[in-house]
Amino acid sequence: MPVQYAFILPSTRCDIHCEHCFYETGHSERTEAVDYLEPLGPALDGMVRDGLQQVIISGGEPLLAPRLQQLVELCAARLVHVLLITRGELLDEQLLDDLERWGVDDITLSASQPSDRLRATANRVMFHSRYLPTLLTCLTRKNVDRAGEMVDFAARLNLPLLFTPAYIPEERPNFDELSLHRLDDQQWDELMETLTPWAEEAHNTGYLSVMRRFYGGQPEHPGFCAMGTAGLVIDADATVYPCFHRHDLPLGNLLTHTWDEIHARAQEHSPTLISAPCFGEHCLSMFVGQAG
Ligand code: SF4
Repeated sequence: MPVQYAFILPSTRCDIHCEHCFYETGHSERTEAVDYLEPLGPALDGMVRDGLQQVIISGGEPLLAPRLQQLVELCAARLVHVLLITRGELLDEQLLDDLERWGVDDITLSASQPSDRLRATANRVMFHSRYLPTLLTCLTRKNVDRAGEMVDFAARLNLPLLFTPAYIPEERPNFDELSLHRLDDQQWDELMETLTPWAEEAHNTGYLSVMRRFYGGQPEHPGFCAMGTAGLVIDADATVYPCFHRHDLPLGNLLTHTWDEIHARAQEHSPTLISAPCFGEHCLSMFVGQAG
């Protein structure tokens, strides 16, 4: 299977500090950003030759990255689909105009719950640009009771909506407060009543079933994972990984390795990773549209 999409992290910096974020929970460490734009160009050429279709620019908050324009333009020049995942607070009229001009094709807005602020952001994006943003809500014990409101909010604005469960490591002091492991049966029933119609409409019923079984104590191994085969991650320090969760398997670094070297190493690991041997709760956030 060719490498079809790459997550590119220009920076892991963020000013918001969402408590469920991998960097805040300690699951992942923020990396010191380096300027890897020069080697990224030839690497992208090789990736496109080998099947790259989409670049997903995330972070941290990518809108804080100092050379975002150059990064977007490098990717857009290769005619791949460029998706930007952002919290959106910084999106004003000028920046929206810039993102369109630089070549961002689509925007996903991370949103923990419906709010006037989110509504203003989504409306600003739709009014001042051609983007129809997808909303992405990370579910924690704190916001599950607002999942239905989030569905209504997205429906009212006619926007696509994704839900993913937050991964809170058990040793975190706020595990009880945030983890879906701490939902009681009634809360799960209510959540499933909300999420089932959403999943049916968004064709995510397989994903929802994996998620429910996982938190119900009957983990269902998905048997397939695209990370490491169709997808990979370029971290802010230019290290390339098969997955956000496999920092034990660095494939190389853009500053010191060519794409062909990185790709060869990716192909070594791909036959193992494709069967999702490392599947766990931390992966559920990556499984929209992949499992089931
Ligand atoms: S199974 Fe999970 S940890 Fe393993 S490669 Fe896939 S997403 Fe990453």
